[in-house]
Amino acid sequence: MDDLALKEKRSIALTSVFAAIFLTGFKLVIGLMTGSLGILSEALHSGLDLVAAGITFFAVKYGDKPADSDHHFGHSKIESFSALVETLLLVITCIWIVYEASKRLITGSMELELNICAFIVILTSILVDYSRSKALMRVARKYKSEALEADALHFSTDILSSAAVLIGLVGVYFNFHYADPIAALRSFKRNEIVSSST
Ligand SMILES: [Zn+2]
Repeated sequence: MDDLALKEKRSIALTSVFAAIFLTGFKLVIGLMTGSLGILSEALHSGLDLVAAGITFFAVKYGDKPADSDHHFGHSKIESFSALVETLLLVITCIWIVYEASKRLITGSMELELNICAFIVILTSILVDYSRSKALMRVARKYKSEALEADALHFSTDILSSAAVLIGLVGVYFNFHYADPIAALRSFKRNEIVSSST
């Protein structure tokens, strides 16, 4: 790999890390502020994306073996450790979200305080994911990188996931309060699929 290619791959990997930090923080704050489980499960997903983006960045930076279809995140020990921590956090957060969503669906008490920020955070997420997906696809095609192409596809499916949460929020806005926990459970299902595929 020549210097320019490496530089471009590093820079796109670093941008993904910053995008994930931003989205995780923003969603976490708004999720806690509004009590929306849909947004909190989005925060969980972005947190997982952050771990994956961090691993990709270090793999590119230290010239580790590139990720391939068998080893989605590359090969080193730090990567396996991160993957372990990631799985643990994933399990704990998922259990909590499913517990809370079921409780809300059964008791009907929602404790939701939606405001404009709830819609802004999801729309921002969709815009960021769209631009990440476009940028990654461009670099993936340029260097014929399957790993980057997989990342690009990942971000484009994230848009669908965020759209589902957005629909949930619109439902809540129109007084269908069950829409939020339903959207959260839907994305929980997706998180599970994501983790089992890695
Ligand atoms: Zn994602």
